[in-house]
Amino acid sequence: MRSWPAPDPSTLPGPGALPGRGERVHLHDSSSGRLQPAGPERGTATLYVCGITPYDATHLGHANTYVAFDLLQRAWRDAGLDVTYVQNVTDVDDPLLERAAATGVDWAELAASQVQLFREDMTALSVLPPQQYLGVVEAVDLVSGAVRELLAAGAAYRVPGTGGEPDGDVYFPVAADPAFGEVSHLDRATMLALSAERGGDPDRPGKRDPLDPLLWRVQRPGEPGWDAGELGRGRPGWHVECTAIALQHLGTPVDVQAGGSDLLFPHHEMGASHAHVLRPHAQPFARLYAHSGMVALDGEKMSKSRGNLVLVSRLRAAGEDPAAVRLAIVSHHWRSDWEWTDGVLATARERIARWSRAAALPAAPDAAPVLAAVREHLASDLDTPGAVAAVDAWADAALADAGSAVDEHAGDLVRRTVTALLGVHLP
Ligand code: ZN
Repeated sequence: MRSWPAPDPSTLPGPGALPGRGERVHLHDSSSGRLQPAGPERGTATLYVCGITPYDATHLGHANTYVAFDLLQRAWRDAGLDVTYVQNVTDVDDPLLERAAATGVDWAELAASQVQLFREDMTALSVLPPQQYLGVVEAVDLVSGAVRELLAAGAAYRVPGTGGEPDGDVYFPVAADPAFGEVSHLDRATMLALSAERGGDPDRPGKRDPLDPLLWRVQRPGEPGWDAGELGRGRPGWHVECTAIALQHLGTPVDVQAGGSDLLFPHHEMGASHAHVLRPHAQPFARLYAHSGMVALDGEKMSKSRGNLVLVSRLRAAGEDPAAVRLAIVSHHWRSDWEWTDGVLATARERIARWSRAAALPAAPDAAPVLAAVREHLASDLDTPGAVAAVDAWADAALADAGSAVDEHAGDLVRRTVTALLGVHLP
């Protein structure tokens, strides 16, 4: 699938972009609960961020996730690493088909239109594109191949049809992975509750364990399906989609497996278990699991099911500067849950105006300490509120003391720092 255009290379971190280089990045790992080095000391870092199910355009919760891991890519590049980044698109799945049926739109057209909107939103927000951007529809052979491998390894079983359902849906026995549970460390009751809430089917009759996730869904009347040899005609489950794509395009262990915090369980736990069985000699699936916080509106997590969405495309259509939207996101810590309000956006707009005024002064206080502080904060768990505060302090000093500052290049360096490392383009 076509990705989206990369930002102008002259605005990105990398060799020669900024003086010196960034520090090794450490990130909070959801699995160990600790701050860990993210990526190798040199060479190429690998990143897999779970993509959207394209049935409602990019809301601020999505934007928060993709901006967070864009900051990681920028910090990695600034530290001298190359980055291989892969993202999927779940362009066939129950919620997409349900939305298409409810609105009378062809499911494939709905997916294509929403993916296009997502591309435009990511471009506007200066998010670096993945090198591999793969829809499950185009990866069906790859994913069904992984399911057949699991069957051959004795780590998949067919469930008999009951209550009008056909025979042959294939499930993964969580008992097949001795390391199952080591990504999320949740107790069983919590796993069962989250499985029911987040796309699982713990009550489906005939499963060995209520937690066992779907690998292959046999085609039902009116649903799309693809031929997959002994699996029959059908479509893949969600978790194995990401596993198969990551194994194919990144290999294991992946340096960072990332997504919103609502993907920790079951999605990332199950995806890891599939990989542990498929690649027993390349464990763990990921060296580090990173989960971004949720964005709320009116006191509730922003979600399609609640309908309380702020869409990036609507903000853009209303004439909002995407840089202000990005700075509003970046002003919050990537792991924190936070609330979107008009005030958050207004503050970001004012901050951009203040930073721009300071950067345009003919002379300003030395900017080298600002670059050092932004790097230090980013290397320490992508602490963007700390980085923003460092730029704020410099801008306040520059604007308060315009007469006695002597550095003619300070404004330019701060502008380049903010652009390259925070991805915020000042006017
Ligand atoms: Zn995923």
